[in-house]
Amino acid sequence: MSSVKTRYEQYTKELRQIADYNAAVALLHWDSEVNAPRKGASFRSQQIATLAAAAHQLATSDQLGQLLEDLYAVRTQLSEQEARNVAISLDDYHKATKLPTEFVRQFAKARAEAYQAWVAAREANDFQLFVPALSALIDLQRQKTRLMGFKDHPYNALLDEYEQGATVSQLDPLFAQVRSELSQFARQLQQEGKSTDDAFLRKAFDKDAQWNYGIELLKNMGYDFEAGRQDRSVHPFTVTFSPLDVRVTTRIDEHNPMSMIGTCIHEGGHALYEQGLPQEQYGLPLGAAVSLGIHESQSRVWENNVGLSKAYWQHHFPAFKAAFPVQFDGCDVDTFYRAINQVAPNFIRVEADELHYHLHILVRYELEKALIEGSLEVADLEKAWNAKYKELLNVDVPDALRGVLQDVHWCEGLMGYFPTYSLGSFYAAQFFRKACETHPTLPQEIAAGDSSKFLQWTRQHLHQYGRAYSPQELCQRATGEPLNVQYFLDYVRAKYSEIYSLS
Ligand code: ZN
Repeated sequence: MSSVKTRYEQYTKELRQIADYNAAVALLHWDSEVNAPRKGASFRSQQIATLAAAAHQLATSDQLGQLLEDLYAVRTQLSEQEARNVAISLDDYHKATKLPTEFVRQFAKARAEAYQAWVAAREANDFQLFVPALSALIDLQRQKTRLMGFKDHPYNALLDEYEQGATVSQLDPLFAQVRSELSQFARQLQQEGKSTDDAFLRKAFDKDAQWNYGIELLKNMGYDFEAGRQDRSVHPFTVTFSPLDVRVTTRIDEHNPMSMIGTCIHEGGHALYEQGLPQEQYGLPLGAAVSLGIHESQSRVWENNVGLSKAYWQHHFPAFKAAFPVQFDGCDVDTFYRAINQVAPNFIRVEADELHYHLHILVRYELEKALIEGSLEVADLEKAWNAKYKELLNVDVPDALRGVLQDVHWCEGLMGYFPTYSLGSFYAAQFFRKACETHPTLPQEIAAGDSSKFLQWTRQHLHQYGRAYSPQELCQRATGEPLNVQYFLDYVRAKYSEIYSLS
């Protein structure tokens, strides 16, 4: 029998091999989005599938399972960090091996068919064309919840995949507050608020000048260009090959510079998290991001709590104005700040502002739960969708394209994923508030162009731990309490009451 130390080294080696394969897959994906010629797509898919299958085989091999069981049995002889890595890896292994190969095959097939049906339904702007394929996929999702196992509610099994430990009984009270307080406040803003003209933000802004400005913003927030780079892509994203190579992409709309700025800062926030993960834990659980919700908190805290604050633009607006003097002629920082924070209900989630966004998520959360528990049939989904948009956002959805067919998530088999977007904003508000409490001069420093204290706070309280703690534990340790949506609600109420001159 080899020593515990040798077996831990073997474990590390095997997990890093899996990470290397996954990094190669990620690099091929990045290349497909950023560089690759159109004709290469079909062979590229094959190459990605081959490497991904090899990684999956390693991650689910009997040999790895045995090694993990052995190490877990002697975990008291490991350091605390090593024991934590092993425990999480064993849990990952059990989850990865729960779904029979035949189920995985069926699911992949149903997903591909649902995607085709979704595209066809969008072309025809007719939800009914999507119903059979989506129904088949939902049936498989229900089957998956039974295979994975769950307590209390089948939806918990799906949530757990993206936000470990998140449950319906945790989310229901959060979203109940969003439902009552946020939708009421949104309505009040519409009815009583004083809006600001933001038409100047839709003038033409030279694309190259926008690009250069975005690079400066990334540098200012602490993104390390020696451990990353920025490119353009249709759908912006962040991709990690290691903490020393974390890349971001952005998109540039000539008539909407705030789209580029929001994207740069958002993806930059994701990237700061990945660049802040401990290098010595590469490939191991303690070297990986803990959950989608926490990841999204890192992008949104920079995009919204920092990047849409008055303090931030007190420093940045003069340089922005200098880069676009004609477009901002006669505009001061106060007018600019109000203009970039105009909010209004709409139909499309990805175009929603930081306030209405969560009402879009609430609609999806309630519908997903109902579909999975079987209280809603797919055939009635469009009707239910439109009714909720009327009730929560007070808008009449004009058609399926701008309604129930707008997101790609469901046909990609991603259910239980949407709530992590809202969790991101809720965590973000709580983290930012705590950081300001710890460093009361933070807003003044940000107004002077220095956000390094905030980056330091996130590095110290969040990034360095990887997956050492669950999202809930991490929040508790960083802020002294569990996730509390009240911080987010207080933040939007204070901010928008002032911007919209509510008494
Ligand atoms: Zn994001």
